[in-house]
Amino acid sequence: MSQFDLVILGGGSGGYAAALRGAQLGLKVALIESDKVGGTCLHRGCIPTKALLHSAEIADGAREGAKFGVKSTLNGMDMDGVNAYKDGVINKLYKGLSGLVKSRGIVFVEGHGKLVSKDTVEVAGVKYTGKNIVLATGSYAKTLPGLEIDGERIITSDHGTKLKYVPKSVIVLGGGVIGSEFASVWKSFGSEVTIVEGLPRLIALEDESSSKQLERAFRKRGINLELGVKFASAVKNKKDVTVTLEDGKSLTAELLMVAVGRGPVSDNIGYQEQGITMDRGYVLVDDKCRTNIPGIWAVGDLIPTLQLAHVGFAEGILVAEEIAGLNPHPINYDGIPRVTYSDPEVASVGLTTAEAKKRGHDVVELTYDLAGNGKAQILNTSGSIKLVSQKNGPVLGVHMVGARVGELLAEAELIYNWEARAEDVAPLIHAHPTLSEAMGEAHMALAGKPLHAHG
Ligand SMILES: Cc1cc2nc3c(=O)[nH]c(=O)nc-3n(C[C@H](O)[C@H](O)[C@H](O)COP(=O)(O)OP(=O)(O)OC[C@H]3O[C@@H](n4cnc5c(N)ncnc54)[C@H](O)[C@@H]3O)c2cc1C
Repeated sequence: MSQFDLVILGGGSGGYAAALRGAQLGLKVALIESDKVGGTCLHRGCIPTKALLHSAEIADGAREGAKFGVKSTLNGMDMDGVNAYKDGVINKLYKGLSGLVKSRGIVFVEGHGKLVSKDTVEVAGVKYTGKNIVLATGSYAKTLPGLEIDGERIITSDHGTKLKYVPKSVIVLGGGVIGSEFASVWKSFGSEVTIVEGLPRLIALEDESSSKQLERAFRKRGINLELGVKFASAVKNKKDVTVTLEDGKSLTAELLMVAVGRGPVSDNIGYQEQGITMDRGYVLVDDKCRTNIPGIWAVGDLIPTLQLAHVGFAEGILVAEEIAGLNPHPINYDGIPRVTYSDPEVASVGLTTAEAKKRGHDVVELTYDLAGNGKAQILNTSGSIKLVSQKNGPVLGVHMVGARVGELLAEAELIYNWEARAEDVAPLIHAHPTLSEAMGEAHMALAGKPLHAHG
């Protein structure tokens, strides 16, 4: 039996962040992982999808070269090449992360762990006991009742990130972030793409205006959308799959990707047996990520907060600092930046208009159209920056659509989290011509002194 200050079950974004910060603060840490350190984000989530999206952007660049006076054509995709590039990025980051874990003196335990008492995790008969246990077992791709994932004709994002060919046609079931990103990739790679979404709009957690703009842009790109209609059934054939919708419509494609959300990994690993309070498989925690059992904490996709890697990082750091006695501030979940990395990108921080109104704010809105921004015209992108603000008060939310707007979030995040008002941001000088200028212009307009804005 080995004794630790911190035993962490799961080496994804949440778990490894807790391990790295804990070790940095002088805690004796064990990190238990059944697969590879880095988890979903590094091996089958954030990193591979963003590499695929970058290949997609280059494919579009080649296809659309003539628009910019460049003689180029897209001769097709070389998926071996795409995968080699993507895997190269993953392997480099994996090597770096593994080295970091080692260099911080963290005891890395490879194997499937189970919580066997309130302070012990067992791996292959060996017990690891900790003054504190952090549960960080993450999430898995869900499917719908009766819809069996075979990994060939009917797949999830796990298979999507490793596909060795470009499908002629794809039905993406689910128009959330993951579904929209894959639809964007495959359209750029040359597939015929249809998104089926039961809710009336894509990326439904975003401000309604962002959903509408993404839908318009996707339709313009030739991505077919079936919104507000539920999936009824799927029949698999040798060469394709036919999906029937509840309105009776049927669609046939070479591939069906199921992107209907992710569920917590919490079954058969001792959580219930140890009396941890859970809801639909999610481990419930307080604002410091403590479970109901003293000394047991939970972070990342396993708890019902936003399923994002940087949320996992923040929760892992919070727990390590709390254990080390630093008494960190709880996380303000409204202030977390969110990006859908499709073409165009959608990025936001803070409250949507609907949420701000629901919370009783006296709301004013301003939408700055990227048509007025020089760099956006150079990039041939359209979109907007929408500000949601309290009347005579701070900016409550920033919602953006357009190429590369994810990179503008850093400033939006400071504006939101530092409770800046439009008048505070308006005097800040933004470099010309950059997309970030649009952020400055939006705040100038909201402060009553628009420069490059009509109306
Ligand atoms: C396709 C896709 C794209 C995404 N893109 C983004 C993005 O662009 N940006 C972003 O912020 N987020 C993105 N995410 C979400 C992000 O990947 C997750 O929020 C993040 O990985 C959650 O971290 P985690 O540590 O909670 O869980 P995970 O990363 O899932 O890690 C959990 C780890 O626990 C291990 N484990 C589970 N059970 C056991 C056990 N019993 N014993 C030992 N080990 C165990 C697993 O092997 C796994 O490695 C994406 C997700 C997907 C699927």
